[in-house]
Amino acid sequence: MESQIKKIHQQLMSKEITCTSLVQEKLGLLKQNTHNTVNSLLAETALALAKKVDAKIENGEEIGLLEGIPFGIKDVYMVQGTYTTASSNLLKKYKAAYTATSIQKLLDAGAIPLVKENCDAFGHGSSSENTIFGAVKNAINSELVGGGSSGGSAVNVAKDYTVFSIGGDTGGSIRQPAGYNKVYGFKPTYGRISRYGLMAYASSTDCVGPIAKSIEDIRIVLNVMSGKDVRDQTSYVSEVVSEDLHTSKVKTVGYYTNFIESDAISKEIKADFLSTLEKIKAKGIKVKALDFFNADVLVSTYYTLAMAETASNLSRLDGTNYGDRVEGKNLKDTYAITRSEKFSEETKRRIVGGNQVLSQGFSDEIYLKAQNLRNQISARFSEDFETVDVVLSPVTPANPPKIGESLNDPLAMYLSDAYTVGFSLGALPTLTIPKGTSTGLQITAGKKKDAEVLQFSNFLNDIL
Ligand code: GLN
Repeated sequence: MESQIKKIHQQLMSKEITCTSLVQEKLGLLKQNTHNTVNSLLAETALALAKKVDAKIENGEEIGLLEGIPFGIKDVYMVQGTYTTASSNLLKKYKAAYTATSIQKLLDAGAIPLVKENCDAFGHGSSSENTIFGAVKNAINSELVGGGSSGGSAVNVAKDYTVFSIGGDTGGSIRQPAGYNKVYGFKPTYGRISRYGLMAYASSTDCVGPIAKSIEDIRIVLNVMSGKDVRDQTSYVSEVVSEDLHTSKVKTVGYYTNFIESDAISKEIKADFLSTLEKIKAKGIKVKALDFFNADVLVSTYYTLAMAETASNLSRLDGTNYGDRVEGKNLKDTYAITRSEKFSEETKRRIVGGNQVLSQGFSDEIYLKAQNLRNQISARFSEDFETVDVVLSPVTPANPPKIGESLNDPLAMYLSDAYTVGFSLGALPTLTIPKGTSTGLQITAGKKKDAEVLQFSNFLNDIL
């Protein structure tokens, strides 16, 4: 699909539409929608900003490419003065005191924030059912889950309620819902975009990234948000990804045989994936089969570390500095009651699991072992990217489940992340494109090779 951002920019500049009418239309759609994508609307701010854009255009002033473009924000980003709930009961009434760097950069470029979007609480989940705002319904079939944890963001983009949305991806939360709702979703190299103001889930893999309907829109938004930020020491200076994305230099594509030979993958996704590889070969590109860690090793390593980190990160939410407080007999009691009553079952499972793997007697055997495995996984990726330019993989082993189905079986839900979590542990840039299998394809390149991922996705778009 063509760039929606550029199309709307043209329409605004040529006065075919006004920014106010565009924003009103999208706010109306969001308000009426029955997919449960909205935690709160930012109607007043959005309309005030739209009016300014219209005034500029009326005055004959130039506007920037993102100026007046309406977008959505997963409800885990701080936006000053807005409810920032992480879809949790504990933070239901919390208003952010400052704005995340990534979002501030979009605001500075003139983009218009419309909505704080529904997601799994604190990013904990793969279906956007772990939320106090009602399960997010899939954009294509509303009996199915929207995917997660950035489900509301992916559905809003798929339904054209927002032009693009900013999701968060710790272990697949941008890529998987993008695949489930047939849109593009990009997790950049870890550190390319500042995490400052993104509520921390697992800090060592948390990434900010865009969801959109075209690769060009992903590129535009990525460029605006990227860059070193003194407030996030893991952020780095990156080069702008240029518009000339139609010259992919990829000569060899790798794929992981253990992803494809597993029992968990659906027959249809496997067959479609293999036929995509044939189409790539037919274009004269080498396809190389690679061995990798089994999916269960990737999933257990990821969940051990993610739970450990989230247990630490969420320890600050005790009803004192943050959160809805439930008074107990004394302070300790207050902490316990607040956390027991206000965290969801899934979040508590992760806090308990995380504290267990970090506790004395277990940390050497479990947490440190996971750290060690993570290093081995990273080393393996480095070796692989010496022999292949990109790795191609399905996004998920199966189609989205029905709403309600995965709630009873957390382990099955964790295993459904088999193809996304490894690339998070490797800190690699990975893009979901809505082609190749029913839940899309993931394109991954070596660290900081974000431009190569986007280039190759254009090539794939042309041949699939
Ligand atoms: N589904 C994974 C999890 O629950 C990934 C979530 C995410 O990326 N935030 O941890």
